[in-house]
Amino acid sequence: MIKYELLAEQLVRKNICAEHSFFSPSLISKKDAILTHGENYYDHLVGLTLSKSDQRQIGFPLSEALVHRERTIAQGSIQNTHYALEYGISMNIAGGTHHAYKDQPGAFCMLNDQAVAANYLIENKLAQRVMIVDLDVHQGNGTASIFENNPSVFTLSFHGQKNYPFRKQKSDCDVGFEDGTTDAGYLRELKNKLPKLVDRFEPDFIFYLAGVDVLKNDKLGRLGMTIEGTLRTGIPSTLDEFHDYSVEWEGSDLVYRLDGVEVYRNQGEGDRYPEAMFAILNYAKITDSPMTGEWVMEVDWVKHEKRKSFRN
Ligand SMILES: [Zn+2]
Repeated sequence: MIKYELLAEQLVRKNICAEHSFFSPSLISKKDAILTHGENYYDHLVGLTLSKSDQRQIGFPLSEALVHRERTIAQGSIQNTHYALEYGISMNIAGGTHHAYKDQPGAFCMLNDQAVAANYLIENKLAQRVMIVDLDVHQGNGTASIFENNPSVFTLSFHGQKNYPFRKQKSDCDVGFEDGTTDAGYLRELKNKLPKLVDRFEPDFIFYLAGVDVLKNDKLGRLGMTIEGTLRTGIPSTLDEFHDYSVEWEGSDLVYRLDGVEVYRNQGEGDRYPEAMFAILNYAKITDSPMTGEWVMEVDWVKHEKRKSFRN
């Protein structure tokens, strides 16, 4: 699909990822797939013999190429878990197939990649407690159903209450928003809920499903968020308090502020960094970098500022 190629190109063009940071996943094995999905369902999917009604649920014509893509995506999330364990974070730009159930496909999803990867982590004793934070505008109904009675996996879903799926499943935490919900209302809930849930559940691995369909200009999304709003990300942390941390351009300096007070300044360094770098910073847990000496800081709340025009 052309969108996946464009996504990868865009990430490189914006300096968010380097070309050598990409990997091409292999195909998921049956053994790993059936830790999550029913063996019978998996065999029919791979054999292209799903029932007519199951095929209708997918929304695409069932084909070898489609199943090949789905098996690649699921394996991508499995391989990602190893990169995340090694480097702290990794991304699957094609993942998020959260409408797939154990024995049934749903809305373009056939294998639930995050569920598959969560079960892989637990089965291989790479993690004991896994949290799935699903911020796609549609409820993660397949994920909720797969882990409904599984105390090792905590499922959280923020979604449009009136959006697909119209029959919701029960996640461990569901927050349904009214149509037209804007940044402030959405982020308040996120900031209130997520850090507390992380503190309480104490996951040793978190999957984050980043849905851009919460944006106002998403034709099917029904919510009213802006790009700036989605770039503000409450970072799960063990801290109780929130701190406002910002990185802003001031002339050609980069200025770091904690709760509005300047804590560090990169003089004349501003031009070296592309703006997109800060979207990445939002996901990072900041420790002592770029500060030196005694600074150790964990940040719950990172503000994303656009570069101010030189004319101002
Ligand atoms: Zn969605």
